[in-house]
Amino acid sequence: MLRFTKDFNCCKTVSCKNFGVSGSESYIQKSERLGYLSTECKLCGSNPPWINNELVKQVLEEKLEKQFAQKVVGCKKCSPYFLITNTPKSKRHGFTSAGTQRKKCCQCDTVFTLPDFKNSAALKVVLDSLLSKKEIKTAIKESGLSARLYYFYLNKLALIFSNFSRINEEKLLTREYLGMHSEGRLLELSHQRGLYALFSAEIDSGYILLQTHNLTKHLFADEFIYHEKENTLAANIKSYDLEEVLLARYQQNLKRNHFEQLIVGDLKPIVKCNAIYPDKVAYIHFQLLKAFTGKVGTYDHFIEHESTLRSAALMSSYVSIKSTRANVYFFLPFIGGDESLDGKRLGWWNDIWFSNRVGAFCPITCKLKSHPTFTLNKGDAIENFYQYLDKSINKNINSMQVIDNILEIYRALYNYCTPIKGQTAACLLGLSDRTYQPEQLFDKALQQITAE
Ligand SMILES: [Zn+2]
Ligand SMILES: [Zn+2]
Repeated sequence: MLRFTKDFNCCKTVSCKNFGVSGSESYIQKSERLGYLSTECKLCGSNPPWINNELVKQVLEEKLEKQFAQKVVGCKKCSPYFLITNTPKSKRHGFTSAGTQRKKCCQCDTVFTLPDFKNSAALKVVLDSLLSKKEIKTAIKESGLSARLYYFYLNKLALIFSNFSRINEEKLLTREYLGMHSEGRLLELSHQRGLYALFSAEIDSGYILLQTHNLTKHLFADEFIYHEKENTLAANIKSYDLEEVLLARYQQNLKRNHFEQLIVGDLKPIVKCNAIYPDKVAYIHFQLLKAFTGKVGTYDHFIEHESTLRSAALMSSYVSIKSTRANVYFFLPFIGGDESLDGKRLGWWNDIWFSNRVGAFCPITCKLKSHPTFTLNKGDAIENFYQYLDKSINKNINSMQVIDNILEIYRALYNYCTPIKGQTAACLLGLSDRTYQPEQLFDKALQQITAE
């Protein structure tokens, strides 16, 4: 069973004896030496910012339920989560009085009913309204459905697509090797609303595996709720010189109060939910990503050149890093790059950088002496998905539930229906053998989950 990290207040220096060690006697907890709350490690002198473990735990549980527990297939008693626990076999076990197929779990004998998505016509109407990017109010009016029913079918549609995606993704768990690439983005909505989200893609195909945003139904003390005006997102300067771009990013980092102070400007709240800080989203997102890496042989994780993501990615992999099962790298996509950086030391930490045709790489956890051959082929996967979301989403949405639903629907449509240079990400990853039109994907998904 997958274990999530409970205590994030520890040393994040890979070479330090305290790396990933919880409650070491050589820590000064909640130190204020540098003007912000930190966990001071007396062994290496680092001061990683203090993390509210309880907040991370609560939002992590909320996102875990949303991302992996919304199962409408298989025995939920034996396997409540996709990817994390194996779904046991089950056999047919008669029908309900309404004529819906029942099944019996071969492991625990629990009898359950397969989903029956009646009214696929209404589901398709909702799908069409999303594809035509209609205002929700107009979509409801034109669909002939009541508002309550429209949202009911939107929720069902998201369940169908997310279950279909997750069933397919379970095939990735037994791989010898998995490479992942993660970056964060600000998704802007109308009326100055917006959300910060982290995305992870598989590196050879660009298939989007996971997305986590900063909205939550939980309420926390005011200091933990996002209200900021400033923006400290590191942006790439316009330059053809990769080294110059990297140095400018380090400079932007040095202007922060502390290195993990990632804030994304003034955002107006979205109704009936709260926004948390991007750094907490990073800790949550990378813990959830363990669902994909728990059983694979070895894995590499290429993360955006961002200090916040570095700490959070290390905290999700420190056990595997110590046993040399995993490595973490900074990656900066740079189209048209070459091999000019060949172990060059750059920035405040003297990080060692390499470059090739897709961008620049910096090993965070391993010591590379010569120019490595990286397998990351789709360096622009997350930017492509972000652009796709940005142009597909109706910007007037103002509900966390709707945002959750449409993000999962668009993730499936992007992976299975949107060819990039002739092939979809799902085809490249071996999870699909054709490019689907959205309605065909809906039919296929419905057929697959009702047959499981
Ligand atoms: Zn240390
Ligand atoms: Zn069972």
